[in-house]
Amino acid sequence: MSESIQQEDKAVANCIFCGKPLKRDEIVRYHGAISCQECAEKAKMQQERFTSPLFFIIGGIGALIAAVGSIGYILASLFSFAPPAPYPWVVSGYSLLSLGLALLSVGYIGLYFNWDRKWGFVLAICSLIGCLGGLIYLNLYLTLGPPGSWDMVTPPIYIISQYVFEGGLFISLALSGALIILTRDDHGIEVLTLATAGASLLGSAITYFLLPALTLLSIYFLTARAVWTSQPPVRPEVKRKEAYAYPNK
Ligand SMILES: [Zn+2]
Repeated sequence: MSESIQQEDKAVANCIFCGKPLKRDEIVRYHGAISCQECAEKAKMQQERFTSPLFFIIGGIGALIAAVGSIGYILASLFSFAPPAPYPWVVSGYSLLSLGLALLSVGYIGLYFNWDRKWGFVLAICSLIGCLGGLIYLNLYLTLGPPGSWDMVTPPIYIISQYVFEGGLFISLALSGALIILTRDDHGIEVLTLATAGASLLGSAITYFLLPALTLLSIYFLTARAVWTSQPPVRPEVKRKEAYAYPNK
């Protein structure tokens, strides 16, 4: 009896965060690591701020909006052989794709916070650059009129903004394809992710593949899950009698 009371009173481990010596009944597990209750709660709150399926939902909606916008963009591109491209396709294409790219960057940042994929930042920057190019192009289109029209000398910024837009869009799609292959284990739906990757890579080369590529990218984000949601992060210490009964052996 007295021996067991002594066991309970003795510090048996240290908190991994603050180093405080912990008695057996003070220990909680934070993702399996020994921690004090206070530090575990703090870490949990901090993590919940950054690991949320919301990032992926916003990214998925962004990809859907971009997929719709790609229809206008593709139709506008078809007319580029005989300019000027029609107003509704250019405006809907560039505005929706730019909005989609902005929202996609949130999904990409979610890849970093949820899955610890540093590529997420690179992808977010690529898609934001594409978004910026698209907005500049759209602004020029609305203020100056279509490029290459008979009464206008097309300013270089017009062509540059289009390159920036297409570069950001296609590079982020191509990198998404590569990233999706790398994260297929996190995701758990291999066939779909590989199809997405393939379509994304194709989409980066062929304009007309933008629609399936962006649709699949949307499915990828919308079916993704935050890594830590499967288990509660903070759990009480499992009492393992063997581990504590003979601490000196
Ligand atoms: Zn602590």
